[in-house]
Amino acid sequence: MCAATADTPETPGDTVPGDTTPEDKMEAVLNLSKRRGFVFPSAEIYGGFRSTYDYGPIGVLLLRNVKDAWWRSMVQLRHDVVGLDASILTPPAVWQASGHLANFTDPLVDCRNCKERFRLDKLDDPEVCPNCGKHGTFTEARQFNLMFKTHAGPVESAGTEAYLRPETAQGMFMNFANVLNTSRKKPPFGIAQVGKSFRNEITPGNFVFRTREFEQMEMEFFVPPAEADEWYRYWCAERFRWYVELGIPEDELRLRPHDPDELSHYSSGTSDVEFAFPWGWDELEGIANRGDYDLTAHADASGEKLDFFDQATGERYRPHVIEPAAGATRTMMAFLLSAFHTETVRDETRTVLRLHPRLAPYKVAVLPLSKKPELAGVAAEVLNLVQPRWMCDYDETQAIGRRYRRQDELGTPFCVTVDFDTLEDRAVTVRDRDSMDQVRVPIDALVDHLGDVLGL
Ligand code: ATP
Repeated sequence: MCAATADTPETPGDTVPGDTTPEDKMEAVLNLSKRRGFVFPSAEIYGGFRSTYDYGPIGVLLLRNVKDAWWRSMVQLRHDVVGLDASILTPPAVWQASGHLANFTDPLVDCRNCKERFRLDKLDDPEVCPNCGKHGTFTEARQFNLMFKTHAGPVESAGTEAYLRPETAQGMFMNFANVLNTSRKKPPFGIAQVGKSFRNEITPGNFVFRTREFEQMEMEFFVPPAEADEWYRYWCAERFRWYVELGIPEDELRLRPHDPDELSHYSSGTSDVEFAFPWGWDELEGIANRGDYDLTAHADASGEKLDFFDQATGERYRPHVIEPAAGATRTMMAFLLSAFHTETVRDETRTVLRLHPRLAPYKVAVLPLSKKPELAGVAAEVLNLVQPRWMCDYDETQAIGRRYRRQDELGTPFCVTVDFDTLEDRAVTVRDRDSMDQVRVPIDALVDHLGDVLGL
């Protein structure tokens, strides 16, 4: 490997870290999301639609990588967890038994002065309207059920009612016996699912933090009752570690055990993994020790035996459940915020997303130095080598420095530049997003080199 020729290398010594306030950072991330194709407001040509969002060409890759990283850690790398993809449309009987029809509510208040609506439990001061500042203008709180109701089939009658699931978890309880009978797993074992959930939130907001349509990554871990506390502690530690391993610094995360008055009546312990969002600490994931509440509720309502019979010991029992429940879209936002950095490089601002390679939308960008036809053939050859292994971008417009900046904003860990020397020496320049170091690598060794530096 010899010195680079694609660009005058920028060295970390040229760099001064940026200094952004949390408000500026939020603004800058929103701006970047729109400008670079991470997230767009839905139905924007019609003025947008009530806090719903579409994931653009870059955002769909990032979100998919977050979900894949979760699946890899929760299913692929374990022998004791299996996957599931259950239906979103669910009959009322499920929500009747689970308690959602009666209890999945938020307290809603209206301000009589400005007519704005709020979730009472999220107000800083339950007496003062945060919109108009008036005191004592709230109506009595009403319990508002967050589930979206619809009808399955052409006739709208009581018998055709269905709900869009507000969580993926019930799919795992519905299939507990199916999985037991088909998978050869026995407690302790888990069922994991990633998918869309819907909640008619009273106050959606903070970008994709709280939306009415969102994605969850949930796992129900069924354990012998005597082991529940131990597994609860295990999953709290394990889930915290996942965020840290994927690059969120520990000082931007905390594990907050719920106070006894916050706990659901059936839970003997719940802890939230929280992230330091620009507006303060807020939840990414909840890990709950749910006892046998769910299986008992469904066994009683359905008449099915939702127990485990251990043939080896002759023992029959109802497993307890530990549930780590995370939001994929909300977590994607935390990874974006945490990775976002600005710095001054040779008097210019550089914005860089220091995303973990596993999460980066593109792992590699192939950039021919110019559009000249001589370079097109060898650039295509390089792309064909790299593309089957990793998601790649290919870009031949603009000056190379501008293209590097664009890839920095997309979080691409490595740029591979094909230049005129490549035609002579059959080597390319590989530029590192974070250090901005450049090294010359023979094309024949490129895939191995990228495999090493990406660690993927
Ligand atoms: P919150 O208190 O923020 O409403 P929750 O405690 O009701 O959340 P859970 O029911 O535990 O949330 O859902 C598990 C995870 O699903 C949450 O930690 C969050 O990451 C995600 N989630 C829940 N509601 C939403 C939403 N409206 N938009 C985006 N993600 C959500």
